[in-house]
Amino acid sequence: MPTDRTIIVLGATGDLAERLLLPGLASLVGLGRAPRLQLIGAGGSDWSDDDWRDLLGRTMAERAGEALPSILERARYVRTDATDADALRALLAAATAPPLLYLALPPSVALDTVAALAAVELPDGTQLALEKPFGVDAASAAALNERLAALLPQERVFRIDHFLGMSTVANLIGLRAANRVIESVWNRDSVERLEIVFDESLALEGRAGYYDGAGALVDMIQSHLLLVLALATMELPSSLDPADLHGAMLQALRATRVRGDDPLVSSRRARYTAGEVEGRRVPDYADEEGVDAARGTETLAELVVDVATPRWADVPIVLRSGKALGATAAHVRAVLREPAHLPRGISAAPGAPAITIDLAPERLAIDLDITGEGDPSVLSRVALTAAFAAGALEPYGEVLGDVLAGDATFTVAGEVAEECWRIVEPVLEAWRADRVPLQSYPAGSQGPEGWAPLP
Ligand code: NDP
Repeated sequence: MPTDRTIIVLGATGDLAERLLLPGLASLVGLGRAPRLQLIGAGGSDWSDDDWRDLLGRTMAERAGEALPSILERARYVRTDATDADALRALLAAATAPPLLYLALPPSVALDTVAALAAVELPDGTQLALEKPFGVDAASAAALNERLAALLPQERVFRIDHFLGMSTVANLIGLRAANRVIESVWNRDSVERLEIVFDESLALEGRAGYYDGAGALVDMIQSHLLLVLALATMELPSSLDPADLHGAMLQALRATRVRGDDPLVSSRRARYTAGEVEGRRVPDYADEEGVDAARGTETLAELVVDVATPRWADVPIVLRSGKALGATAAHVRAVLREPAHLPRGISAAPGAPAITIDLAPERLAIDLDITGEGDPSVLSRVALTAAFAAGALEPYGEVLGDVLAGDATFTVAGEVAEECWRIVEPVLEAWRADRVPLQSYPAGSQGPEGWAPLP
C-alpha cells in the first residue's frame, strides 16, 4: 500500500499520544489534509501491533473518517528503548516512507534520545519533532540545541508547544495587527497591568510520574505562558516567516526578567490540599499516587515579570497557572489605566476596565464604561464581546499539519526555548532553596488565603 510519510511516535503508550496527539492527527486526516500515513508507535511497554491499532481506533475513529482503515492496516508497534542507538536504528528501518520522528517522551529521556541519535544514520527526509519542555534547565536546553544542530538542518527540527497551535493564541497576532482599537492601547501608556493566566479545575489526574518532577512553573509558565507572553508583548513582525516571527518573540523574551530580579517578592507558590472541585472529591496532592511529598512540588505558581522595552517598561506582567482551582480561567488580560481626567460631575464605574482575550472558550471582551440606566452622569461597565470561531483543527492537528508541510512558524525556536528557561531559572533556584514558602490551598478554592485573586 503506497505511503507518503511515516510518523514514528516515540512515547506512543503515553498520555500525550492518547489524549492530544492522536485525536489532533485524526482532525487533520479527517479534513483530508494529511498525506497517506504509516503510523509506527514505539514505547517501553510490551504492546502488540493490535494494542496500538486499538489505541488508534479509539482516539481517531470519531474524526479521521474514511482514511482510518488504511491507516490501521499500515500501523505497527515497536517496543523499544528510545535511548539506545541500535534500537533507534531498528525503529527507523521500519519506516516505509520519509519519517517524522515524534518524541513524546519525558524531557530527560528525550535528551538521551537526541544524544543517541547522533550515532544513527538518519534516512533521507527525516524530520524530528520534540515536545516541550525542551531540556530541564537553561544549560540542558542549550546543549540540546547544539546536539540538534549537529543532527539535522534546522528546518527539519520542530520544537512543539501546542499552545502555538491554539487558534486563539495564533490569533493574538492578527488581532493586534488588524485592529487599531486594540493595538493603539496595547502599550504602557494605556495598560496598567497585563495578566496571562491559565487556571485549571483539573487536579493531578494520575500524571504524577511527569508532573511531580515538573510542577506548575515548569509545566505551564516556563513553556506555554511565556510563549503567550512573547506573542502578546512583541513588536509585530513584518511577516509570519519563521525568522521574522521567531525574531520578534525572541526580542520580547530577551527583555523579560523577574520583576526587580527578586523571586522572593515577585513569585509565589502553593500546593493543593484535599477538597472538592466541581462536586468531585480531590485528595491532598501530597497523598496522590506517585507523589513524593518531600519534593515540595507546587501546583499553583505565580510570577511577575517586566518586559523592558519602550512599549512595556514598568508594566507588571503577571503569569499564573494552577491546578484544582475553584474557577477556571485562561486568558490574556490588559487592565487599563484610569482616564487622565473625568469631567467633574461624571462618576466613573468602579474598578478598572480591561481588554480580555479568553483562550478557552475563545472570546474577546472589551470593557466600556457607558451611561447606565438612570442618572446619565453615572457610568457603568459593559463588555463588548465576540466569540472567536474555533479552528477547524485541534491544536495538535494544526501543529502536525504544519510540521508535515515543513512549516516552522508556530513552533518554538531553539533560542526562544533557552530564553524561557533563563527567565524562570532564578525563581526555580529560589524555590529549590526554599527561600519562597510553599503555601497551601484547599482544592476547589481560589488559591491560598491572602492571595488576592486576580479580578
Ligand atoms: P507519559 O509519562 O504519559 O508517557 C511517556 C511515554 O514515554 C510513554 O509512552 C513511555 O513508554 C515512553 N518512554 C519513557 N521512557 C522511554 C524509553 N526509554 N524508551 C521508550 N519509551 C519510553 O508522558 P506524557 O505523554 O504526558 O508526556 C510526554 C511529553 O509530552 C512530555 O515531554 C510532556 O511534557 C509533553 N506534553 C504532555 C502533555 C500532556 O498533556 N500529557 C501536554 C503537552 C506536552 P512506556 O510507558 O510504555 O514505557
